[in-house]
Parts: sequence; structure tokens; C-alpha cells
Amino acid sequence: MAELPLHKVLLDESEMPTQWYNIVPDLPSPPPPPLHPGTKQPAGPEDFLPLFPPALIEQEVSTERYIDIPEAVQDIYRLWRPSPLYRAYRLEQALGTPARIYYKYEGVSPAGSHKTNTSVPQAYYNLQAGIRKLTTETGAGQWGTALAFACSLFDMECEVWQVGASYDLKPDRRTMMEVFGARVHRSPSTLTEAGRRLLAGRPDHPGSLGIAISEAVEVAAPDPEVRYALGSVLNHVLLHQTIIGEEALLQFAKIGQTPDLIIGCTGGGSNFGGLAFPFLREKLAGRISPVIRAVEPTSCPSLTRGVYAYDYGDTAGLTPLMKMHTLGHDFIPDPIHAGGLRYHGMSPLLSHIYQLGLIEALAVPQTECFAAALQFARTEGIVPAPEPTHALAACIREALACKESGEEKVILSVLSGHGHLDLSSYRAYLSGGMTDEQVTNDRFAPSLADLPQIPD
Ligand SMILES: *Cc1c(COP(=O)(O)O)cnc(C)c1O
Repeated sequence: MAELPLHKVLLDESEMPTQWYNIVPDLPSPPPPPLHPGTKQPAGPEDFLPLFPPALIEQEVSTERYIDIPEAVQDIYRLWRPSPLYRAYRLEQALGTPARIYYKYEGVSPAGSHKTNTSVPQAYYNLQAGIRKLTTETGAGQWGTALAFACSLFDMECEVWQVGASYDLKPDRRTMMEVFGARVHRSPSTLTEAGRRLLAGRPDHPGSLGIAISEAVEVAAPDPEVRYALGSVLNHVLLHQTIIGEEALLQFAKIGQTPDLIIGCTGGGSNFGGLAFPFLREKLAGRISPVIRAVEPTSCPSLTRGVYAYDYGDTAGLTPLMKMHTLGHDFIPDPIHAGGLRYHGMSPLLSHIYQLGLIEALAVPQTECFAAALQFARTEGIVPAPEPTHALAACIREALACKESGEEKVILSVLSGHGHLDLSSYRAYLSGGMTDEQVTNDRFAPSLADLPQIPD
């Protein structure tokens, strides 16, 4: 009898990892420290106290290799974790490739994306510190939804600034956040100094993640009862996402394979880092040797066309300065459909790892991404969120290269979310109304010229 194809690899609830993995102690050198935005000297933990609870600040600067996941968080994770590892067998057949394509599917979470892996512990640690309300930004709406969900479980308030372009295009996302009990504002808003300043110059301002962060930070920082939560970029966020890669390692062990190539999309770097870091640990220890590749949009290419420099995490310059790949904090990306990838910077930890040469990066235009998404939906049955279509497009490029070369590569990707609330983007693509922005260096020059000056 012919061997039946394998479609998915599942873990029992009892096999769910109970620790997150911190890659910092395993790196050949530590990432440069954040700087205080006023003094431009290394920022201490106390500089983050107006924004984050002590437990998250500890994780942010931790050099412990493993950090226990609190029982209460594990208990909530088990609502959807462990997540399945699928083999995209029908996609492989459609492509006629000898490559094997696997994807870890994070769209099974209540919010439909990987973001709940960090929203739940973030809300938990804030509640432990006596905080009753969190503010945040959201791009496409996935992070806002994930935080609203987590806050609803812990009976906390949640106030969200949603990037204007997404707010206008994706009203169902707003409704979903409201279903989970959040208050949602279009950003830039009239509720903050940062928002009012931008609206004065342009009443229909499309917003950006950097602007929405400024607004959420501006509201949280002065109020001792309110803290701010960030859905990507920071070390503690990438830490929480490592459960994706830890599970995937166990799943690959079950089928006795190892990936040759790991691919993920990067907005702020959290789903990619979450998948890749546990595999990078194994690679640094000499046990496996996968190539690890980040994929970003050509409209917002912080890794491939940004500079590695200290910059603010937000547009108004309220956050500590972080050394990262950046297009400049006042860069306003074209309103591409992958709202979650419209961020001017990149995780400082991932940027450092890129500088060390431990990962590769690639930029892909959005029409290629949506073509890949349709091929994926029509073979695998899942409509992907616009963000991970970047990873899918890169997987397909690689699978087609394997078809040429005859290589039987094992490719692993993460499908970070489903696109059920992103159908307006698919409508634009299907109607032929989606184009690719031609990005020349002039596009980045003004914001790159505006980077903060750091004395040596
Ligand atoms: C937010 C988001 C992203 C981008 O953020 P990362 O921190 O780079 O993962 C990607 N995919 C989905 C589904 C998202 O919600």
C-alpha cells in the first residue's frame, strides 16, 4: 500500500511547553541597550516603569535562558494551544515541487492570530501589579483584538488606537475589539497632543503604527493606574512568542525531520522570532543548520533598506531610543493591505541578530503576496491574513526553485493568522485594484535624515 500523505502533526495539551525561551544568553554578543530619550544614556529598568509592570521589565532585560510560563497563562493558552503543524501537501502538488512545505498555524487562537500568545501574559502581569486598564495601538486590528480578548478574561479595561487607514478599511475589526469590551479610536485622534498636531496638518491622515503608539503611550504614561502594552518589537513580546518555535521543534521531532529553511513575515519581528529563535538555539549549538529568512513588504522594508541606528519606537519620540533597523520614526508607509507590517522599525533583538549574520531578509511586493495567498487558499483551504502572505510568497519562490534544482528541501513557515476580517484586501486584489508602490530611495530620504543624533 502506498504511504498516505501526512497532513498535520498535533501535540496533546499535556505536551505544551511550560517555559518561554530567551535567546539573549546564547548570542555571541548582547544587543545594544535602549537609551533614555532625554539624556541619551542607557535606559535603566526604572525608565520603563511608567509604561510596563515590573515583571515584564524584568523579562525585557533578562539574561535567563528559560522563563516559566505562569500556570494561569498556561491555562488560557490551552484554549487553543498547542497549535497544529500542517504539511501543505496540496500546495506542494499544485506547485509540482519536490520540497516539503510545513506551516505552524496560529490562526486557531480566539483572536485569529499569534498575538494572543503575548496579550494574555501581558494582561496577566499587569493585573498582578494592580493595573486595571491597558492602552495600546493596533494596525490591522489583530493586536487590538488579542489585547481586548486578554483584558476581557482578566476583567480589565482596554483602550485601543487603531491606525486610521485600517480603521476606515476594516470596520469589522473594530467591532470585534468592541465585542471583547475594548474602546476603539481612529488614530490620529483628537484625544492626544500627538494626534491633534498631525490632524491639524491633514484632517484625513491615514495614520501609522508609530503615531498610534505615541497616542497610547501619551495616555498611559502619566496615569499610575494605566499601563501601555506593545504587541511586537520588544524582547518580552518575542520571548512570549517562542512557544510557537518550541512546539514546532517537538512536532518536527515527532516526524523525525528537521527544516532546511525557516521563513516568516516580519512587521515588528514577533511571529518570526517566536518561530525562529528555538531553532536558532539548536543551530548555534551545532545540532541543526537551517537557513532562517525574514520577509517584509517592499513598501516598508526596514531590514533590507533601512539603516541600523538608534531611533524612537514611535512617531512623536516619546519612547526610549532603540538600536534597530529603521526607516526613520516619521516614515509614513504607503497604506499597504498588510497593516500589521506597516512599522518603521524592527525588533532591536532581531535587528542585532540580523547584524550578526544569523538570519537573512527579503522584501516582497504585495501583489505577489496576494497571488500566493489565493494559491494557498485554493489548495490548503485557509484564507491567510495579509501579513503572512509575505512568508507564503517566499515559500512559493523557494519551492519553485526546488522544482528547478530537484532539491527536496524541508521548508517551515508560520501562518501567523487567518484573513477572515481582511476580505476587503482580497476584494481589492480580486477586482484588479491592487498595485505595487514603486519605492525609490527618495521615499526614505526625509525620514532617514531625521534620525535622532546620538553622541558617541
Ligand atoms: C501583527 C501581525 C504580524 C506582524 O507582527 P510581527 O510582530 O512581525 O509578528 C504578522 N501577522 C499577523 C497575523 C499579525 O497579526
